[in-house]
Amino acid sequence: MKQVRRLIHITGIVQGVGFRPFIYKLAKQYQLSGYVLNNGDGVSIEVEGDETRVMNFYNDITLQAPPLSRIDSITAQTIAVVDALTFISEKTRSESALPEYAPNFIITESDSSQSATVCVSPDQGVCPACLDDINDPTNRHYRYPFTNCTHCGPRYTLIKQLPYDRKQTSMAAFAMCPDCEAAYTNPEDRRYHAQPVSCPKCGPWVSFYALESKKDQPETVADHYAAIEATANALKAGKIVAVKGLGGFHLMCDATNQQAVSQLRLRKQRQRKPLAVMMKDTHQAQCYIEGSQKEWALLESQQRPITLFRKKASRLNCVNDAGFVASADSADSADSADSADSADSADIADIADNVAPHIPYLGVMLPYTPLHYLLFDLVDVPLVATSANISGFPIIANSDDIFRLLGHVVDGVLDHNREIVHCCDDSLVQIAGGRRQTLRLARGYAPYTFSLPHKLTHPVLAVGGQQKVTFGLGFAEQGIISPHVGDMFGLDMQQHYQKMLNGFTQIYHVKPQTIVCDKHPNYMTTEWAQDYVKGYVQGYVQGNVQKNGQEAVQENSLDTIHTNNHDSSYEKPTQLLQLQHHHAHIVAVMAEHQMRETVLGFAFDGTGLGDDHQIWGGEVLLADHKTAKRLYHLKPFRLIGGERAIKEPARILLGLLLEYYSFEQIKAFQLEAFANMPNSKLDNLYRLWLTEQSSPYTTSMGRLVDAFASLLGLVEQVDYEGECGMRLEALAIQADADKGAEPPSRPTFVVENDVIDPQPLLASVIDSLAITAFQSACADLTTGPSVLTTTPSIFTVKQALAIKQNAANQFFTALVEMISTISAKHPEYPVVVSGGVFQNRVLMDKLDARFTSDARSFLTSEIIPLNDGGIAMGQLWHGLWHEVAAAE
Ligand SMILES: [Zn+2]
Ligand SMILES: [Zn+2]
Repeated sequence: MKQVRRLIHITGIVQGVGFRPFIYKLAKQYQLSGYVLNNGDGVSIEVEGDETRVMNFYNDITLQAPPLSRIDSITAQTIAVVDALTFISEKTRSESALPEYAPNFIITESDSSQSATVCVSPDQGVCPACLDDINDPTNRHYRYPFTNCTHCGPRYTLIKQLPYDRKQTSMAAFAMCPDCEAAYTNPEDRRYHAQPVSCPKCGPWVSFYALESKKDQPETVADHYAAIEATANALKAGKIVAVKGLGGFHLMCDATNQQAVSQLRLRKQRQRKPLAVMMKDTHQAQCYIEGSQKEWALLESQQRPITLFRKKASRLNCVNDAGFVASADSADSADSADSADSADSADIADIADNVAPHIPYLGVMLPYTPLHYLLFDLVDVPLVATSANISGFPIIANSDDIFRLLGHVVDGVLDHNREIVHCCDDSLVQIAGGRRQTLRLARGYAPYTFSLPHKLTHPVLAVGGQQKVTFGLGFAEQGIISPHVGDMFGLDMQQHYQKMLNGFTQIYHVKPQTIVCDKHPNYMTTEWAQDYVKGYVQGYVQGNVQKNGQEAVQENSLDTIHTNNHDSSYEKPTQLLQLQHHHAHIVAVMAEHQMRETVLGFAFDGTGLGDDHQIWGGEVLLADHKTAKRLYHLKPFRLIGGERAIKEPARILLGLLLEYYSFEQIKAFQLEAFANMPNSKLDNLYRLWLTEQSSPYTTSMGRLVDAFASLLGLVEQVDYEGECGMRLEALAIQADADKGAEPPSRPTFVVENDVIDPQPLLASVIDSLAITAFQSACADLTTGPSVLTTTPSIFTVKQALAIKQNAANQFFTALVEMISTISAKHPEYPVVVSGGVFQNRVLMDKLDARFTSDARSFLTSEIIPLNDGGIAMGQLWHGLWHEVAAAE
């Protein structure tokens, strides 16, 4: 047996996830001596023993790493063998936390003076072992809503600073009892160094407050488990309760109670925006939604995102005496048909229509904290679980704000006394075109960290765009994308952004030197970046925003921030880079795939400032990480009234039609979109268009979607972003369900020179709608107007609907054909698609099918949002390479 000694170094998410006890147990298993310690950029291990055992030990590190860890790199170096007894130096032994557990292998304390480049793990859903604990009456964690271990629970939302150590988290307020202390210090225990470890004796607790009387002061009704019971009772009674989760409050109510949901909508003044629903478990979910294996896997993953599923048409066979069982069409329900037969068709209430009206999808998540599980033990119905905030404001993370800002919305509050340091929304994902799409990157996924292809000499900060903002940080060899911050409208959101940014730089002790922002001069993030570079933003760590324009201020703030990175290059002056919005969309996808080559990028979204200072959004770019050339764009049309048009899509439609038809022609079409609009208003809009004021040109594909939704009479007033696309999609799905509905002629876009023109498609849809109008008129003649007003011809209504369904379907088919045609003209480049328009599942499914039959592939992002939440990633990737070029 040959004795060897190796020095192993590991980077990635390897701290605060049970990595050292894992190494400790592994070393014991292979009878190796040595030590493991956390250091500045990961974990270092020295092991000595039989060569084969050391090799197996090394291989098992990657194979068996703890569930929440992520290994980015692992290296091993052979060093001289020393006598096993003297192997652990006196110094190491004195620093050791627990030499007594394994005399020959020890875990040493982390070196707290340097941990700047260690990743923080995102929060994770509760693990099965902890669930067992809370359900076991003999366990000290029985019914304890804050149960966690190294394999689960909060991380990011309660950390104030690295290293990830209890005293640097909001758990510092709770002194561990002897039992918790024992678990915390025992490397054999699942809770070894689980920083938030606590129990009913020593940890935080929940309290329920009633606001029903709407008095000035909320009234405490119950604490501890009784608070959960009180919450359950309130929910069952149709009340609205704010429930504190990991990253903020949810507004919850019974999702099967139409009245409760409409009360919530009324009080929050939200008409149709789909609400997410939390289901007790997969079995319950199977009663209401249907999906692919990929979708179920996402739903059940420990990250516990909100996953968009198709609503189920029928809920037959989904109940038996024992309660919910799998539906007949699900994989694991071999005997469910029998169960259903024996079931007394017990009522399972439907999800109320007003939870996600007019759309075929439902956003569903499973419980992710012990508290949620305890709640669902008492409430057997799906619960609406929507982020508690005022529209356009950040998610609320403390009860004072709930009482102050949402006191009129909620009937009760289930609060707890563990502070949320960083608030964090729920993540939102879906499967489209067979792949994952992340619509909102947040809890469970973010902070999203990844390895950079090279080491940075100075840190890069990407500030994001204007809507669905995230920001990105690159330093040393890692990149980090923040959780979803929100839309940067208004002072509150700007302060929230600043706070999150401060939190990040505080955690990582980073002072960015290269700042990348959007080209739009009025984006809040652009203004912030410019101020920062000018030195106007001072006291960065303290979070004070002041303007005084003195260069000296920046110098001072440099000193206060440089607690860790002593590299002299960190003192270089700050530089500002600006990246065009749609270029950033394409580069974001490239970043996720670690690409630098030139690609053919389709960036289709709502709005972004173009290089020509017009509003872009339907762009085809030949791009790499540094530069982009605009090859094609949608034929421009005007947004009548500018921003207002986005809320009122008939304005967009009118602007589009006026590119092709006279105002008289348009009126003669008798389109449904203008039916409820007074003539005077239509005339005014036309005049506004003629004056060319307040009606900027756009090439936005997102706005074209809005125009088509309006043309088909789907949306008069937009209630939430993306509603038009969602409604168009819903209609197209119905057409797909009705096979053979595709019309023989397939009008599409014309691609001539560099312009993509929707005219043939538009003309075809208007023609088909005219047929509807004609048929309707014929029906009028045969049945007589007086009858028709009360009982319209069913045949005609059905036909009219079919025509609209076909038109919606044709719209997406045409988009795919156009993309395919353009791609065929540039076979030498990889195709990249990005931008919010590609979040449309009908579009992505068709695109995937078309590209498969073309034997061509396309790239898109799966982890990073395709929407504006991905802008920061594109900016970061751009800044990364720019920085290298500058240094060369
Ligand atoms: Zn656990
Ligand atoms: Zn305890």
